[in-house]
Amino acid sequence: MLGDYVWMKPEKKGQFDVAIGAQVVKIAADKLSVVDDEGKWQSVALSRILKVMNSTSIEGMDDMISLGELDEASILRNLFIRYKNKLIYTYTGSILVAVNPYQCLPIYTAERIKLYQDRNLGELPPHIFAIADNCYTHMRRDGQDQCIVISGESGAGKTENTKLTLQYLAAISGRHSQIEQQVLAANPILEAFGNAKTIRNDNSSRFGKYTEIHFNPDGAIVGAQIKQYLLEKSRIVSQANEERSFHIFYSLLDGLDAGDKQRLDLVDASSYKYLTEGSTAKYDGRDDRPNFSDIRSAMKELVFSDSEISDILKVLAVILHMGNIEMEAHTIDHLDATQIPNMTHVERIGKLVDLEPAAIVKGITTKTIIIQNEPTVSNLAYRDAVDVRDALAKGIYARLFVWIVGKINSAIIQPEAGSCSLIGLLDIFGFENFDHNSFEQLCINFANETLHQFFFHHIFKLEQEEYDAEGIEWNHIDFVDNQDCLDLIGKKPMNIMSLMDEECMMPKGTDQTLLAKFNTAYSKDKSYLKPTRHKTNSFGIAHFAGEVYYDVQGFCEKNCDTFSISLIQLIELSGNKFLRNLFQADIIRISQNNKRSPSISVQFRTSLESLMKTLSLCQPFFVRCIKPNEQKKSMLFVRGLCCRQLKYLGMMETARIRQAGYPIRHAFQEFVGRYWCLSGLIPPSKNEDKHERARQICENVLGSSGDYQLGTCKVFLKIAGDLHLEQERNRI
Ligand code: ATP
Ligand code: MG
Repeated sequence: MLGDYVWMKPEKKGQFDVAIGAQVVKIAADKLSVVDDEGKWQSVALSRILKVMNSTSIEGMDDMISLGELDEASILRNLFIRYKNKLIYTYTGSILVAVNPYQCLPIYTAERIKLYQDRNLGELPPHIFAIADNCYTHMRRDGQDQCIVISGESGAGKTENTKLTLQYLAAISGRHSQIEQQVLAANPILEAFGNAKTIRNDNSSRFGKYTEIHFNPDGAIVGAQIKQYLLEKSRIVSQANEERSFHIFYSLLDGLDAGDKQRLDLVDASSYKYLTEGSTAKYDGRDDRPNFSDIRSAMKELVFSDSEISDILKVLAVILHMGNIEMEAHTIDHLDATQIPNMTHVERIGKLVDLEPAAIVKGITTKTIIIQNEPTVSNLAYRDAVDVRDALAKGIYARLFVWIVGKINSAIIQPEAGSCSLIGLLDIFGFENFDHNSFEQLCINFANETLHQFFFHHIFKLEQEEYDAEGIEWNHIDFVDNQDCLDLIGKKPMNIMSLMDEECMMPKGTDQTLLAKFNTAYSKDKSYLKPTRHKTNSFGIAHFAGEVYYDVQGFCEKNCDTFSISLIQLIELSGNKFLRNLFQADIIRISQNNKRSPSISVQFRTSLESLMKTLSLCQPFFVRCIKPNEQKKSMLFVRGLCCRQLKYLGMMETARIRQAGYPIRHAFQEFVGRYWCLSGLIPPSKNEDKHERARQICENVLGSSGDYQLGTCKVFLKIAGDLHLEQERNRI
C-alpha cells in the first residue's frame, strides 16, 4: 500500500463533502500518513480511507470518459491535476470543460490553429480549437448546421472561448475577406456597449449573445448574424459598489479629442452621477476598457457612417447629462411636485438633440393621463420624477444597443443565408443565485433551466450511443429531469410568467397581489417554495442547480416595462432624427391607440423559444467553463467552488447517468492486467485474447449476478461488481 493513491473521506462533513485524493506515505497499525491532493500531510484513521484509486485517476486523463471510476470526486480531481499542469481543457466525450487560467497561455498561436486543422476530436490534447474544428468539419462533411453552447458563471471564460472559436473559424475560412474582418470587428463594439466591470469580472458581458456564422459550400465565411438577449439596462443609472457602467462611457471620455468633447459638453468620468454610483473604488491597474479609437475603427469597418457615429456620441452624452440633472422636492397647492433648480444640464441635452428645455422639464417632472378622453397633466413627486428620468436614460440606452446590433447585422448579414451552412455560438449568462435575486435572475435562470434540459438530453443520448457502440444491453434509465421546474416558470398554462403578465394588465395589480396569487396557485407544486419567515416578500424555486429565492419587489414594473406616453411624446418633439428613430416602434404603437408592448417576460420567452428551436436543428457541442477561484488569480483551484459549478453545469449528471447504468469501465487489457489472478495462476501472455480472459474472470467471480457486461472493447461493471472484484483481489 505504501506509495498507493487512495480516495479519502473529506475532513469535515458539510456542504462540500466530495472525497479527496491522497498518497500513502507511511503505514502504522491503525493509522496512515498521507499527503492529500492539496499537499497537506495528514495522519488519518483507516476508517477515513474509502478505496484505492483507479490507475486512470492518478495522473488524470484527457477525457473523463476514460476514467475508470466516474464520480464527482474523480471528475473534480481530474480537472485539478490537469489544471496544476496548466492543462485547462478536458473532454467528457465531445463536451469540453475549460477552467479559466487567468493568465495568457501560449496555446492560441497561429501554429496551434494549423495543428488542430482537420484532426479528429481526441487525436490531440483537448482544446477549444479542436471543438471549433470538429464543428467546421462536421458542417462541411454532413452539411448539417452546428452550434456550440458555451456556458458557465460570470468570469468563467465564456466570452474568451467564444472569441477564440470565432478567431479559429475566421482563420480556417482563410479568405482574409472583408466579411471575415467585419465579423471579427463586431466583437469590440458589442463589448464596449454591452460589457462592464463587475466584482466578478472586469469584462463582464451584461447581455446574452447568439452569433451565427454563415459559410458557403466552399467553407468560407460569407456572413453572420447576432442576436442579443436581456441587456442589463439598470446598470446605466446605478452600479453596485466597485462596479462600473458600460465600458463605452469611460472609453469615450478618455478617448475623445478636445474639440469633440467640447461640442458634446463633456468632461471627465468622475463628474457624472451615472458613472460614479458604484465606482468610488480605485482600479488596480487592470483596466479592460477598450480603446476608443479601436471602437471607432470597428464601427467604420462595419459601415457606421460618420453622422451615425456622431449621433451615437450625442445620445451617450445626453444620457450622462441626464444623470446630472438635479431635482428638488417642493409643493404646488399642497401637492407634491418636483423642480429643477439648475437648468444647465437640461439645456445641454436640449442643445444636443434639439429639444426645448421646457419640454424636457415637463417630460420628467409631470405626467399626462387621459381622463374622459382629455389629456390631464399632474405633477410628479420627487421620487417619481427621479424614476422617470432614470427610465428615460435606461430606455434610450437599451434602444441604442438594439439599434447597434441591428446596424452590425445589416453589414454582416448574408442575404441568401438559406443556401449556406452555419455554426452558431451561444455565449449566455450562467445560472445566478445572489443574496438578493429579482426578476432578471428569474429570466436568466429560466433560460438556464431550458439550456440545462437541452444539455441533459444530449448527454443521455451520448451515453446511449456508448452502450450501442459496445453492444451493451441496458434498460432505459428513468431519470428525473427538470421539466417540472420549466413547467412552473414558463411552460404549462398558468405558469409564473403568465401570471406576471396577467398582473400587469390588472389596474390594481401589485407585487404583493402577485405573490399572493403564486402562493395560492402553486401551493402543491414541488418546485415552488413559499415565502419563509425570513423572506416574507420572496418566493423560491427549486432549480436543478439549487434553491433560489426571488424578491417580488419591482416584478410588475420590470415585467411591464412601461415607458410612459409622456416620455414618448417628449422624444417625438426632438429635432434629432436618430433619437426619434430609436423610438420608432414606440411612436407607432402609441399612434395606434396606445397598444401595450409585449411584456419583458413574453419577449424573453419568445426569443428563448426561437433560440431553442434554432439550436435543436443543429448538432450541438458544449463548452462548460469553470471559474477556479473568486480572486481572478492564476493557477488557484478552489475545490469547493469548482465542484459547485460542475454540479450546476450538469457535468456531474454524466456521472449520475452513468451510475444508473454501468459506471465502472475497464479496457480489456487493463482489466486483465489487474484481475488476472482471479482466473487461475497463469499470468496473461502478450498475444492472449484479452476479451476471453476478461470473460473468464467475470464468470469466475461475478457469475450470473448481472453486475457486469462485456462490450466489444471494455468490461462494464456495476459498483457492486467492482467492489466484489476488488475484495477478491485483496484476498489473494
Ligand atoms: P461574464 O458572464 O461575466 O461575461 P465570462 O464567462 O464571459 O463572464 P470572460 O470575460 O470570458 O468571462 O473571462 C473573464 C476573464 O478571465 C477574461 O477577461 C480573461 O482575463 C480571463 N480568461 C478567461 N478565459 C481565458 C483564457 N482561455 N486564457 C486567458 N485568460 C482567460
Ligand atoms: Mg462574457
